[in-house]
Amino acid sequence: MNEKKFDVIIIGGGPAGISAALWCDELGLDALLLESQGELGGQLLWTFNEIQNHLGAEAKDGRQMRDHFLNQIEKRRFTKILNSEVTGIDLAAKTVTLAGVGRFEGESIVIATGVGRRRLNIEGENKFQGKGILRSGKPDKDQVKDKVALIVGGGDAAFENTQILSETASKVILVHRRKEFSAREEFIASAKNNPKVEILTDSVLNRISGRKRVEEVEIKDIKTNAVNSLAVQGILVRIGVKPNSELFRNDLETDARGYLKVDQNCATNVTNIFAVGDVANPASPTVSSAVGMGATAIKSIRLRLKSS
Ligand SMILES: Cc1cc2nc3c(=O)[nH]c(=O)nc-3n(C[C@H](O)[C@H](O)[C@H](O)COP(=O)(O)OP(=O)(O)OC[C@H]3O[C@@H](n4cnc5c(N)ncnc54)[C@H](O)[C@@H]3O)c2cc1C
Repeated sequence: MNEKKFDVIIIGGGPAGISAALWCDELGLDALLLESQGELGGQLLWTFNEIQNHLGAEAKDGRQMRDHFLNQIEKRRFTKILNSEVTGIDLAAKTVTLAGVGRFEGESIVIATGVGRRRLNIEGENKFQGKGILRSGKPDKDQVKDKVALIVGGGDAAFENTQILSETASKVILVHRRKEFSAREEFIASAKNNPKVEILTDSVLNRISGRKRVEEVEIKDIKTNAVNSLAVQGILVRIGVKPNSELFRNDLETDARGYLKVDQNCATNVTNIFAVGDVANPASPTVSSAVGMGATAIKSIRLRLKSS
């Protein structure tokens, strides 16, 4: 078992964590970056749209933007451990233990765990991942060619994907639990004017079923409690995101939705524990904000060390 002390332990290897690692090297801090997945990138790995709004580099999709980041940090010195989900942390002692790998102590800890997609938590949702439950409209639209697709959600992401799937599907059914939508008016209007799109409001999905792949869903009208079965072959769930902050909620202050509260230095309420990127609820949850917060936290850590 490894035992080592670092100036900074960074948890999460999305844009915020990668930026923090770069800035540790820049400012002479010895950093350990822990990422639960097999590669760095975070949400960039599930972004299939072009990224044209991050100053300095454009990309045809998130993976290409991630590759720009990897090229840039290639020569930077920091320790990286992939496939290492942090499941236990002692924030008072500032130690992270990874089963079978080691126990690491950080002078400071930077939480960059981002957000994850909300799930429906209904029967069939786990079973049919990749078997009719789609990752995203753009890469998966051919899976529903001439078939019936169903989208759950009422925001921009749900409506954008409705448009994309309607390019190939014979029909797209959008199911939303409320009557009102949070999506942009132009997205809603174009879905309503699309003859392939049917919108069901005040409705929720109860169950997904099929033999090997998705074949049928059960939909409940929450006003009348009537339950209907519909034959569908593809499902996309876009009901928002939630912060990956469960691990820290006992020790760190959060807002009502579980996002970690930070000050202008990205410091949390516990000394030497910082939170950066989407998990800290930036006003604009973007690559630019994540990268900027990574830099802010490390600069602030460096200044604290100098003055102590
Ligand atoms: C479809 C889509 C399109 C987007 N388009 C744009 C765009 O055009 N422009 C733009 O600027 N932004 C865009 N974004 C938003 C942008 O991707 C995010 O704001 C950014 O990725 C946030 O970075 P982050 O590092 O804070 O978090 P994330 O990218 O969420 O990364 C967090 C990382 O932490 C890891 N992690 C979580 N928990 C643990 C743990 N316990 N132990 C170890 N590791 C852990 C995760 O595996 C992940 O790699 C888009 C997002 C999506 C989903």
